[in-house]
Order: sequence, then C-alpha cells, then structure tokens
Amino acid sequence: MQQLTFLAPGQFEWRDVPAPTLRADTDAIVAPIAVARCDLDFYIATGFVSYPGPFAFGHETVGRVVEAGPAAGVAPGDVVIVPFQLSCGRCGACRRGFTNACEAYPFAAAYGLKPTSKTEFGGALSDLMYVPFADHMLVRVPDGVGPEVAANVSDNIADGWRGVAGPLQQRPGASVLVVAGLAQSVGLYAAGAAVALGAGRVLYLDDDAGRRARAAALGAEAEPLALDGGRTPDAQFEIVVEAAGNEAALAFAVHSCAPNGVMTSVAIHFGAATPVPLTRAYYKGLTFHTGRVHSRATFPEALACIACGKLHPEHVTHRIVPFAEAIDAMTDPGPKVIFTR
Ligand SMILES: [Zn+2]
Ligand SMILES: [Zn+2]
Repeated sequence: MQQLTFLAPGQFEWRDVPAPTLRADTDAIVAPIAVARCDLDFYIATGFVSYPGPFAFGHETVGRVVEAGPAAGVAPGDVVIVPFQLSCGRCGACRRGFTNACEAYPFAAAYGLKPTSKTEFGGALSDLMYVPFADHMLVRVPDGVGPEVAANVSDNIADGWRGVAGPLQQRPGASVLVVAGLAQSVGLYAAGAAVALGAGRVLYLDDDAGRRARAAALGAEAEPLALDGGRTPDAQFEIVVEAAGNEAALAFAVHSCAPNGVMTSVAIHFGAATPVPLTRAYYKGLTFHTGRVHSRATFPEALACIACGKLHPEHVTHRIVPFAEAIDAMTDPGPKVIFTR
C-alpha cells in the first residue's frame, strides 16, 4: 500500500509499504478518508521543529473500517474517529483517563509521529491503518457530521476543547482569553469551544488578521495581540489559554489571568528552558496546566458538541485537498488543511 513518508523538511515521498493485517480479535484495519494537518505537522514539514525522518506522516483521522476482528466492536463500513495516540483502555492510566500515557505502549506513542516515542505505528496519510484495541480506540462519527468536519477532533480540536471545557464546567459563564499564535488552529478551536460552552466574554488575541476573522466567525471578540506595540493586560480573565508559543505571550497570559484563575498552555515551548513569571502566578494562585491532550478520553465530548451544531470547526479550515496533493499542501501557511479521499 501507499504511505506518505516524511524524509526531511520540505521533503516527502509516497512509499510502498506492506499493508497491515489483523493480529488480535480486538484489532481493526481502517482506510483513512479525511485527515487533518495538525499544527505540529506544519512545523515539522517546514523544519521549524526538528524531527528526524523517515517516518509515516499524518495523525488526525476519520476513516472507514475495512476489516475487524470478532471483538473489535466495529464492523466493516463503519466511519470512525481514530485517536492519534495509541491506548489500550484497560491499564491503570487509561482507566483514569490518562490516555496520553497508556502503559501498554512506549511513552508518547502516536500515529504519524515516530520521533516522539521512537516507534513507528504508521501514519494517517496511508491507504490503511492498523488499529489495536479497536473496541476502545474507535468512536463512530455521528450521523450528520462530515468526515472533513470531524477529521481533527481527536487532536487539535480536543486540544483546544480541554483548555476551556473543564474550567467552564467549574465556573459556568466565566470569561475566557485566548492568546493565540503558534498553535494556529488549537487557539481557534479553544475560542470556538468557549463560545459553544456559554462562556461570558471570549476574547481572542492574535497578530494574524486571517485567524482573527476566523475567530470572529466562531463568535469570539478578536483583536491584535500587539505585544511588540507594548500592549499590557487590560482585563483579567478567569480562564486563559496560551497558544502563542513565545515567552512574551506566555508572560502576558499569566498577567491576564484573574486571581485563582486557570491557565492552560497548549503551545509547545520548544526552548530548553522557558521563563515564566512564577512569582506573579504564585500571588494570584493560578492553576497552570500544560501537556499533551488525552485524546481518547477527551474528544468524544467535543465530537458531541459538533454533532449538536454548537461547535463549528469548519470555520477554521481554509483548504480541502485530495490525498494526492498532500505533499504540496503540507507547507501551506494557512491554519488548517484537510486531506480527503
Ligand atoms: Zn497533532
Ligand atoms: Zn492503556
């Protein structure tokens, strides 16, 4: 079968690799039909983040089941979400909802991201994917939700969702600030989720005018971040999401957080050490979250919100192209490319 393979920044090729086969009763084989480009994929493709190739690429997936073991819980023809992280659903970590660190797999095991776990699990931009523990992993796409709309619910949408959903459950109607930038689509999904979940004020700050227009379409107030212009926090927010990925924006986010507020950093800060205004955070009593999303444990709530018509990830998508154009589109600077087949 064909598999898109990342070689080096700007260099991909479609390689012939052996097709996966069922190995256990709970396995399934899935043919991807809609794959979203993760925010991280863009930075790997362009070389901003250094991941050594070669490895199979793509990890945000909706697919059609083509083969299923007798205990896989799905049947050929089912259209399903494939979580980007592998998890068993049975171990202690999975039972606690910590599906980003399943004990059955090497730490940080994921499709399309071999360097994070040093193990190749295959990628989504392939003819077929091997899915173990399918009875736990796979979730059917609800009727009325298009594959291209749900394509990145298992990763970037869930990632934005977790920054606001839990905090809003504890503080219904609270105000939300999104400091946006590097994690292009995750910040937008956080803003959209905050609106969908009935937050009070939702302010989205981003220096990119195109993304600001998308945030406005999602129902948020959108303004330039303008830290270069010396902007200082002009309001305090109970819930803050930092998706900008730079020190100045991280500090701005801390200073914008209300006393006893909750802040989630969803951008990956790639420097060896990132300064944080910890004294300020201490006196405010901030709760600070960061880390990889728990894909399987988190995305069904976001999927349900899409299915009920409140969350509209399609406002973030700027381009839909066939799989065959994936290499060219991988370095498109826009916020979200979806590949379909
Ligand atoms: Zn991702
Ligand atoms: Zn597990």
